[in-house]
Parts: sequence; structure tokens; C-alpha cells
Amino acid sequence: MDTCVVGGGIIGALTAHALAQKGFDVRVLDAGRPGAATPVSAGILFSIFDQASDSAWASLARHGHAAYPKLCAGIESETGFERRGLLIVGMEAKQAEQWARANGLDCEILSPGECHRRFPRLAAPEHDVALMPEVAQIDPPRFMEAFRSKLQDDGVRWESAWVSGILQDENQVRGVSNGEQEWQAEQVVIAAGAWSTELQQVAGLEPSIRPRRGQIIAWRSIDTGNLPIVLDGHRYLVVRENGEVLAGATNEDVGFDVGVTAQAKIELTDFARRWCPDLLAAEPDTQRAGLRPEGEASGPRIGAHGKIQGLFFNTGHYRHGIICAPGAAAQLAENF
Ligand SMILES: Cc1cc2nc3c(=O)[nH]c(=O)nc-3n(C[C@H](O)[C@H](O)[C@H](O)COP(=O)(O)OP(=O)(O)OC[C@H]3O[C@@H](n4cnc5c(N)ncnc54)[C@H](O)[C@@H]3O)c2cc1C
Repeated sequence: MDTCVVGGGIIGALTAHALAQKGFDVRVLDAGRPGAATPVSAGILFSIFDQASDSAWASLARHGHAAYPKLCAGIESETGFERRGLLIVGMEAKQAEQWARANGLDCEILSPGECHRRFPRLAAPEHDVALMPEVAQIDPPRFMEAFRSKLQDDGVRWESAWVSGILQDENQVRGVSNGEQEWQAEQVVIAAGAWSTELQQVAGLEPSIRPRRGQIIAWRSIDTGNLPIVLDGHRYLVVRENGEVLAGATNEDVGFDVGVTAQAKIELTDFARRWCPDLLAAEPDTQRAGLRPEGEASGPRIGAHGKIQGLFFNTGHYRHGIICAPGAAAQLAENF
């Protein structure tokens, strides 16, 4: 059966994979919109810290923890998958430890002295910190490139197209269009990130997805030793194996504006240098912005439209779309 996935970010790509594995004939249509979240994302594979362990978010995140090592098996260096560990410096270490145990993650408490001994390039913390050594990361643009060849092997077709219409007969979906061309499909999945809101409207739904801009800065190549991911509230530092150092991220309500700001650069640079003095040696090389698809606080929107047969959504993954993508794709595929 022909299935069309609208949107080729991480949610659309993993959804296409899950459906192809179930034997569907899948096509991904992607508009290549500037400001898509996936290529800008830090790629931290970490459960959702501010959510209860029994929430929809936490369960998707646990699925992600288990799924990524398998998805990246044999292609770790192409996807940037590595377990650098995560150091939580922005909250009481005991609290972080309790949370880690409830979510099935190992956690060690380090005194400031022990932290300095293990991570000499990190500024010494003022109090105990929590280290979760199993936490991994991917490099999202590289992951997507590698994953697209996997999709080709699955027989998934990938096309550039900006979908503006959903075709239906009575209440049964029959494809999508861009105003000039039509793609016939018995099932359509909307996985268009922040822009899913437009297609919700086209499908006669109340739009429930809002864009939240996240800015990130990066140093191309700085030797920061064995620095793990450092998390301080919603700010973080991520080091890639090629020496790139990222600092993120802002969280702004500015609609579909995908520009970057001088203020964000100053704030993120100050944050990064406070924890990693090596970064004083140079100015950041790049600054990027992406639009997170913010939906309901209770969890992403995964499932059927309800009134239009064959129309599905997989969207609204907000700050957690990378870690939640495998679980969200599996959950949607179960609905088919
Ligand atoms: C700065 C930043 C850091 C982040 N860090 C993390 C992190 O460390 N860990 C984590 O788990 N999450 C993180 N996130 C969140 C994560 O990136 C997102 O939740 C996730 O990428 C959303 O994926 P998506 O596929 O839904 O959307 P997107 O990646 O935005 O993809 C949507 C795609 O749909 C296409 N599209 C849109 N409209 C149409 C249309 N009408 N027709 C055809 N195609 C269309 C767009 O071109 C785009 O390619 C971060 C986000 C940001 C911005």
C-alpha cells in the first residue's frame, strides 16, 4: 500500500523506516525549509529530565535509549554516535541520581575534586555533580545523511516537494499535492515539524503546534580533552569527535523567524566559557537557529486524524524529538 510521509526531519525519516519495515511502500516528501529543527539539534540522547518517569515523554525517551545503539550499529562513526556521558552541574546531585535510577540510568556522584581529576579541562564545580556515563549523542546532520542511505535500501523514495494540499474522497485520504502535482497514497503521515500547524489547518483541525526558536553556537575545532556533555538547566555543551564544540540553546517565542541574534551569541558564549575556559582562545565560528515543534505538554501528537481515514500525525516533539524519534515512529507504525 502506498504511504506518503510529509516532512523529512528525524521524525519523518524514522517513521518512513518503521513503515517500510512493516512492508509499506513509502515515499517521503520534504520541502527543505530553512530553520528545520533536526539539522540544528545538539543530538543529545537523554531522557526527559523535567517529566515524570511514567509520562509519555519518558517512555518514548527510554525507547530511544535502547533503539539508538541498534540504529547506529556498524555506522557509529558516520552518525556521530558516541557515549561521552553526561555531567549534570545545574541541580542537586542527589536529586539527579534519584531521577537517573528511576529511569534506568547509571549515575555516579562526583565531588568537585573528583570532577576536576576526571575532567581537568572543565571549570571546577562548586558542589557535587552527577555523572551519567551511558548517555550518548549523535551528530544529527551526519546521522540523517547515513540514515537516508538506509532508507534507500528499504526502498523508500525521497523527493523534494512542498506539500500544500491533502487529497481526499469523502472521508478517505487519497494523497497530497503541491498545487501543481499530485502524489497518490492510501495513507498520509504529517511529520512536518513546526510547520505541521499549516497542514493541521488544511486537514480541518485546530492548529496545536507552535514554533519555538532554538539558537546554538559552535566552535569548529577546539581541543577540550575528554569533556562529557555538560548540562546546566536548559543550557549545555556538547563536544563532537571531530573537535567541534556546541553550546545551546535559547528557547524563544518569535513565530517562524529563523534569524540569529547578537544577544543569544553573547549569552551562549559566556555560558560555554564559564564551564570550558579553553573556549576563551577563539570566537565561535557558527551560529544557527532551528524551530522546535512545540505541541501539548503531555506528549507529542502520534496517531490518526480521527475523521479523515488514512491521515496520521507524528509531530509536536518539541525539545525531545531526537531522543523520542525511534519510539514515536514505532508507536505510529503500530497504529497502521
Ligand atoms: C537548538 C536545538 C537543539 C536541540 N537539541 C535536541 C537534543 O539535544 N535532543 C533532542 O532529543 N532534541 C533536541 N532538539 C529538538 C529536536 O531537534 C526536534 O524535536 C526534532 O528535530 C523535530 O523533528 P521533526 O522531524 O519533527 O521536525 P524538523 O526537523 O523541523 O523537520 C520537519 C521537516 O518537514 C519539512 N516540511 C515542513 N513543511 C512541509 C511541507 N508543507 N511539505 C513538505 N515538507 C515540509 C521541513 O522542510 C523539515 O525538513 C533540539 C532542537 C533545537 C532547535
